[in-house]
Amino acid sequence: MTPLAEIIAQRIRATGPITLADYMELCLLHPRYGYYATRDPFGQAGDFTTAPEISQIFGELCGLALAQAWMDQGRPAPFTLAEPGPGRGTLMADMLRTIRAVPGMVEAADVTLIEASDHLRGLQREKLGNIRHIDGIEELPDSPLFLMANEFLDALPIRQFQRVEQGWAERIIGLGEGGLRMGLAPPVDLPREGRIGDIVEDCPAAVAVIGVIAGRIAAHGGAAIIVDYGGWNGFGDTFQALRAHRFEDPLANPGEADLTAHVDFAPLAAAAIRAGAEVSRPVHQGDWLLSLGAGARARRLADAGDGGAMVALRRLTDAGEMGHLFKAMAIWPKGAPPVPGFDPLRHHADDA
Ligand code: SAH
Repeated sequence: MTPLAEIIAQRIRATGPITLADYMELCLLHPRYGYYATRDPFGQAGDFTTAPEISQIFGELCGLALAQAWMDQGRPAPFTLAEPGPGRGTLMADMLRTIRAVPGMVEAADVTLIEASDHLRGLQREKLGNIRHIDGIEELPDSPLFLMANEFLDALPIRQFQRVEQGWAERIIGLGEGGLRMGLAPPVDLPREGRIGDIVEDCPAAVAVIGVIAGRIAAHGGAAIIVDYGGWNGFGDTFQALRAHRFEDPLANPGEADLTAHVDFAPLAAAAIRAGAEVSRPVHQGDWLLSLGAGARARRLADAGDGGAMVALRRLTDAGEMGHLFKAMAIWPKGAPPVPGFDPLRHHADDA
């Protein structure tokens, strides 16, 4: 048993089974044994690789899109340049390099990172120098907000409900022979369709985060680009654990594996609209990057001697690689031009 498995078992013995959300939060963020609290999980030697760690092209194009949105909105200054869940700080570093080419932009930017892990905060400071860290998205100042989030929402705690005869039973974690065991709470009513055995997921934290971001953008201007793997309107059980680039049972090694769930963009778009902002239809990451010139950028890097640039381009954009599984969605103020590469959702309400 991992040390965290023992802590969780004690808690269950004391107060009963816990929800998946409680489990995820403990596993990822426990201050001593949590996954993100104790390690740098990225890259070949780690558990997973993210788009900005594959190639600088990703962060450069994100920076370009935010820079264009900033110019389109009359170059507000000062403004907050924010990233929740910045990992190693690579994405922000690549964005800042691009943004430096835009006169006046970097000088007006108040760089703010939302990061729960002290360990990763240290890596981010090493890479980015003097930036501000905050604990939660609600602490973002009341100012124009330009925000990029990659693979952040998939780390937020989810709840799962399974359809049974009498309603929807929450999936909870208790104790069985030899360790942690998935079970079902007594059923409740949920306004959801489903056949017996179906599983639905909710991520209330992600909905709240998007509500805050969209509220700031609606009130003060700005733009947000959200990239993550997932889709539109639910898809069953997507709770997964990844360790050393392999999937494993999410209950097997608490604190030692990355736990995530697919992001459902439909409730997030609804939250952005409720907050009074404009939101895009989600698009495939591959299509979005190619529409911003990823192909030309990769060829220039290759010509300049970057031997991996064309392979990286394919990993980021090919349908069979990250290109289709990952979606991008943008938020901007009503009446402002769309963020480059995105169309407003309402024009596509039928086919979204
Ligand atoms: N965006 C980065 C890293 C993604 S991994 C990249 O693309 O490479 C998820 C990141 O979110 C990590 O930095 C992790 O520590 C952070 N994180 C996870 N849950 C969080 C929470 N509830 N609040 C703040 N940061 C969180």
